[in-house]
Amino acid sequence: MRLSQNFTKTSKTAPADEIARNAQLLIRAGYIHKMMAGVYAYLPLGLRVIENIRQIVREEMNAVGGQEVQMTALQPRELWEKTDRWDDNKVDNWFKTTLKNGTELGVGLSHEEPIVDSLIPFVNSYKDLPVSVYQIQTKFRNELRAKSGLLRGREFMMKDLYSFARTQEEHTKLYEELAAAYLRVYDRLGIGADTYRTAADGGYFTDKFSDEFQTLTEVGEDTIYVDEQKRFAVNKEVMNDETLQKLGLSRDALVEKRAVEVGNIFPLESKYSDALGLYYVDENGERQSVIMGCYGIGISRVMGVIAEKFADDKGLVWPENIAPAKVYIVQIGEAARVVADELYAELMAKGIETIYDDRDERPGAKFADAELMGIPYRVTVSDRLLAQQQFEFTSRKTGETELLTHDALLAKLN
Ligand code: ATP
Ligand code: MG
Repeated sequence: MRLSQNFTKTSKTAPADEIARNAQLLIRAGYIHKMMAGVYAYLPLGLRVIENIRQIVREEMNAVGGQEVQMTALQPRELWEKTDRWDDNKVDNWFKTTLKNGTELGVGLSHEEPIVDSLIPFVNSYKDLPVSVYQIQTKFRNELRAKSGLLRGREFMMKDLYSFARTQEEHTKLYEELAAAYLRVYDRLGIGADTYRTAADGGYFTDKFSDEFQTLTEVGEDTIYVDEQKRFAVNKEVMNDETLQKLGLSRDALVEKRAVEVGNIFPLESKYSDALGLYYVDENGERQSVIMGCYGIGISRVMGVIAEKFADDKGLVWPENIAPAKVYIVQIGEAARVVADELYAELMAKGIETIYDDRDERPGAKFADAELMGIPYRVTVSDRLLAQQQFEFTSRKTGETELLTHDALLAKLN
């Protein structure tokens, strides 16, 4: 990406009505555009971050046998009536709309019902199971408050996977495989060290716990109690003596923390499959219930959490795996332009994503933008340094700077 040709520009200020730090920084750095409260558009840099997060999630879901699909946002009312989730008294954050002929529709806020419906033609026999299906898609929820930037959108991106098993045992095996895959996802996203599997409320249809994945941050809306040794936590909403006993945790080992829910996995039993008529026939020719699980990750929320959590007083600081580029080249001076052009071409040819600041700007403005955008490594190519055949290499995270020859620089970036 050549900055001279990029249509977005950085800005010193964010919209006055934007109070969330993650959104303020992402707007100022040109990653997102605010349409209205809780509704954001992704610009080129922001879309790259989203794509990188999606790709990590996709790889880990595929690795545990997930099959990717894309459900529809428009939903027929009848489907949701079968599970008693259409009524606004049951689910209070629907966006609903009406066709010209008067037919009511819902705008997808979750996809248990549609996924089950789409499996009905294909799942009949024990031979058709187990199966796991997922999508990465926009969800719509009429949230009461949307003041936390990407952390709580009215339109947001979610990965949701649904597992279908023949027995409780088979379900539990899938469930634990998915839980382990979730931890790998958060590790690869750079938030593994601060993310805990957390026992939480299972929803109104099971007396089991669900498992949330909670990332520590002061701006989190949730309170959790962390057992650092066991790397496990309990959400305040289910925190009591009975819970601790069930989980084999001791109150003394727990520390209270603020956190944000970056994922949530649920055992669903056969509530949805039974209600929608998805059954299988076992080896003995008998009809059996299908045991389901559902597994969500807030893709756009994760982007907001990472923006918020790692930012410093100069701007964003992306972990390498999801940064929109690995390197930011600052070109200073006319002789340096030729060398910077070559370096940019060389890095791109090697598959090292690079933002090339080839604009006609003061050096100070270029440095400030590199910092605001949070690109992991800055390489300065200047007339002065070139006289010594050197490049300046700076880590965004640590601020450490070193002078390197061309070969040492490439070795470092490889
Ligand atoms: P919350 O309690 O924060 O409202 P939830 O429990 O209703 O979330 P789930 O239905 O469990 O959310 O959704 C799965 C994941 O999707 C959540 O773990 C979260 O990461 C993400 N998510 C949920 N709601 C939003 C939202 N409004 N904006 C962004 N991400 C969201
Ligand atoms: Mg949840």
